[in-house]
Amino acid sequence: MTNQLTNGDGRWAKKAHQPFYETAAAPALTHAPARGAEAPVTNLMGAGLSNAFLAGLPAEDLERLLPSLERVTLSARENFSNSEEARHVYFPEDAIVSHLVVFEDGGTVEAAMTGRDGVVGLGAVFGHYTPTHWSRVTVPGSALRMRADLFRQEFVAGEAFRSLLLRYAARHSAQVAQRGACVSRHRVENRLAVWLLMLHDRAGSDELPLTQELIARRIGTRRAGISEFAGSFQERGLISYSRGLLRVRDREGLEAVACECYRLIREHG
Ligand SMILES: [Zn+2]
Repeated sequence: MTNQLTNGDGRWAKKAHQPFYETAAAPALTHAPARGAEAPVTNLMGAGLSNAFLAGLPAEDLERLLPSLERVTLSARENFSNSEEARHVYFPEDAIVSHLVVFEDGGTVEAAMTGRDGVVGLGAVFGHYTPTHWSRVTVPGSALRMRADLFRQEFVAGEAFRSLLLRYAARHSAQVAQRGACVSRHRVENRLAVWLLMLHDRAGSDELPLTQELIARRIGTRRAGISEFAGSFQERGLISYSRGLLRVRDREGLEAVACECYRLIREHG
């Protein structure tokens, strides 16, 4: 894994809407670092903490954690292990990671995604656990990471940390259940709208770097199907698409196409 340090790179572009996880209290963002605080704290505070899990921690817990965090860039080639052997746990900022079921024929379906709403590497606290899925980056970007052994220590010792993580794990599991049900009941067009809205919520930008091949591998359908629906979405002014860059143009229009699963995942997953 080759990660590149990008401390101080607080790139947050256009925000066309207010995602649900930004409504959470984020005491750390307004909490001024103590005079003479260590450099890592100042750097990270200065760049802002956009990950909802970290922002939801009590200020004193966060200050204890900050020296253990480093900002990294997750590239499109990144592959994560979710087992307890994984060396790091990630808190995405504008990066988005997909959790994929991979079939014997090489086909994939995304079971869930994690962006700034959560944590990648929950397996670190599950004990002897063999994950049945792979995690890959869908939208490259920044994340904070910490060593998995320190993450485990916090989970055992920190009551607020543990409670917040269990709440996220429950939401994640609700997302997996709803997404699985969605695949079996709802049409590709609806699922594509749900998926784009979920990415849009987490990306912090209207522009998403997505190829049709990548979309097909996440939705679990043929590229021709994605091409047809992406064309239809474009004609209706919901999105525009050019050379691997998809721009969300009409969120409300996408919400009207999405099945009920989007609302349920937004509220519970
Ligand atoms: Zn659905």
